[in-house]
Amino acid sequence: VRAKTAVLRLGGMGEVVLAGRITAALAPVVFVTRRAWLTLAAALPGVVEARAAEDGLDLRDCGAVVDLQGSLRARWLLARAGGGPRRGLARADLRRRARVWFKLPAPAPLPARFAAAAGGPAAPAPWLTAPGPPAPPAAWGLVPGAAWATKRWPPEAWAALITQLPGTLRLFGGPEDDALLSVLAEAAPARVEIIVEAGFERTLPGLAACGVVIGGDTGLSHLARALGRPTLTLLGPTTAEDGLWADHAHTLGVDLPCRPCSRFGGPRCPVGDHACLRALEPGQVAAAAAALRAQP
Ligand code: SF4
Repeated sequence: VRAKTAVLRLGGMGEVVLAGRITAALAPVVFVTRRAWLTLAAALPGVVEARAAEDGLDLRDCGAVVDLQGSLRARWLLARAGGGPRRGLARADLRRRARVWFKLPAPAPLPARFAAAAGGPAAPAPWLTAPGPPAPPAAWGLVPGAAWATKRWPPEAWAALITQLPGTLRLFGGPEDDALLSVLAEAAPARVEIIVEAGFERTLPGLAACGVVIGGDTGLSHLARALGRPTLTLLGPTTAEDGLWADHAHTLGVDLPCRPCSRFGGPRCPVGDHACLRALEPGQVAAAAAALRAQP
């Protein structure tokens, strides 16, 4: 029997989803994460158990540990947890800051650094399967929310997109997105379904049954891609080569000298006009989404 490997990544959601690109190769895996992501972590390939970092860690039943966080907190948690030999993520904080400040070349993106820490390649999409029987991919999936304001395409642009896409649409978000999604649904109330939840019970099968998913640089967009759905990602203050979308072919972004202006997004545009996302026209996004949907 192969010994279990403990894999630690605390969050956010997109990074936990991306960790699923290396968990199958390390199976059987005990995944350690924040309590909010336990259900998601348990669904990753090769994961036999998900444990909350908040509960205090005991990894003495694991033969090896892969630390995908690489932070001081992670090291502190793991130092007390036991477990076997440890491999860790090569963090790139300084190079990422230098990239934002001086627009130097981007360091290796996170999926590549995850793979290096795990000692094997990152799996291609799809790497996640939704529970339950497969449903025909019919609706458009939209993910309008994001943790940081600068990563959000303006609500009026989403509303215009909704009017331009034919057929049924499904809007996804967490409880913090509820008000925004309710307003957006008014653009086409007879054709829009809203899926808002803190967990993933409806979100996973709902995303898996979308023909194309359109969203910002946020966790649910990563989840859609992990499930193998054609995903069109609207990038603003972050760029594909800087982060989590490095090997994803379907991103839209405006070429501006201020990009990237932050590592994770921020509360307001440092320049003031938020042109990186405001200049993305709904018609342009609708055309790109239709082209993606038409691909065999
Ligand atoms: S317009 Fe430039 S400075 Fe403003 S949020 Fe976008 S990338 Fe950042």
